[in-house]
Amino acid sequence: MTRRISIFGSTGSIGESTIDLIARDPDAYDVVALTGGHNVARLAEQAIQLRAQIAVTAHDENLEDLRARLEGTGIEAASGTAAIEEAARRPADWVMSAIVGAAGLPPGLAALEEGATLALANKETLVTAGPLVLATAEKHRGKGARLLPVDSEHSAVFQGLVGEDMAAVERIIITASGGAFRDWPIEDLPKATLAQASSHPNWDMGQRITIDSASMFNKALELIETKEFFGVAPDKIEVLVHPQSLIHALVGFNDGALMAHVGPPDMRHAIGYALNWPERRRLPVERLDLAAIGRLDFRPPDEQRWPALRLAREVMDEGGLAGAVFNAAKEVALDGFIAGRINFVRMSEVVEEVLSQLASDRGLIHAEINLDNVRAADQMARRTARGIIEAA
Ligand code: NAD
Ligand code: MG
Repeated sequence: MTRRISIFGSTGSIGESTIDLIARDPDAYDVVALTGGHNVARLAEQAIQLRAQIAVTAHDENLEDLRARLEGTGIEAASGTAAIEEAARRPADWVMSAIVGAAGLPPGLAALEEGATLALANKETLVTAGPLVLATAEKHRGKGARLLPVDSEHSAVFQGLVGEDMAAVERIIITASGGAFRDWPIEDLPKATLAQASSHPNWDMGQRITIDSASMFNKALELIETKEFFGVAPDKIEVLVHPQSLIHALVGFNDGALMAHVGPPDMRHAIGYALNWPERRRLPVERLDLAAIGRLDFRPPDEQRWPALRLAREVMDEGGLAGAVFNAAKEVALDGFIAGRINFVRMSEVVEEVLSQLASDRGLIHAEINLDNVRAADQMARRTARGIIEAA
């Protein structure tokens, strides 16, 4: 039986890894939609290789180029956020959510409403609107809607929970490599350059998540993602620094057992697990030789080095739309760092200032969690963050 598949963010790091897997077994899949951003040449190439129904670029100014590249192929071309959402409403069995940032939320929700299995690499979906996303998946479960984690830590936890009773879970530990500046003297962090922050010791990922790994904003988002996905109290979720990135997460049970998920730092494992779920199938990932590896190291997370972790705890305690505010402020601060407007350390200061400025706006933070209110909180946080960056 062929499965209908769509990939949102197909030209990115996760998108390419997803295509690497499905291209190994082309007869098993019918590709419905592929979406990308500015890399239209690659998007068109993917669409032709996989014989997709439609290719969508996020940017209208790229449409003409995309059309020209797809001329005569019978593949539709479209552009813009509305077209991405429309593509997400086309019937598909399995949808990869691999856009980066809050822009991943609307197509993810649309795919769930149409009854797709949503493989969630885009952690921002749960950070910005967790309760709405879970409720949407639940509402359309009869049509087949379901959420599967793709973030490596969350896939690891999910696998550790197979056949287990959530009531027996005492704690969930997600690991963090520590990123590029794990071993830097803290006082040197303001001098960190974009190139230094964009290079990860273990994982080969998109630039934004790589910088977020160095600042631990990535782990901060993942703490919130863990709370939302597994419905566990924040005080049961821990971060553990593990420089080798071989243990991705551990689940601790009430009898003292810790179940660890061990594997190479290759996202094709988590993507493939979600693709093949509930079965396990052979995947082209490295088999670890633990004797050759010899040792695994661990250390506690340092909240002075990585204030993002403390901020994530505050956001989880606040609940409501605090996650949407946090993520949007982080996106603007990250843009500011990438553009050279603020230094590395200033990113978490900007986010903290946005959180404290908007904390008193109960109507914004504790409004009903629907798409309009998520957008309003997101936009207010972006405006506030830009104001803080410009004022300096
Ligand atoms: P990436 O930057 O490599 O790719 C992002 C994709 O989204 C590209 O196709 C890009 O064209 C598209 N895109 C960017 N902005 C967009 C917008 N505004 N609207 C529509 N499309 C847009 O990113 P990535 O590393 O593949 O990460 C994708 C998501 O997966 C992120 O949420 C990230 O946190 C998560 N994730 C990534 C990894 C990894 O190993 N790369 C691991 C775990 C989770
Ligand atoms: Mg992760």
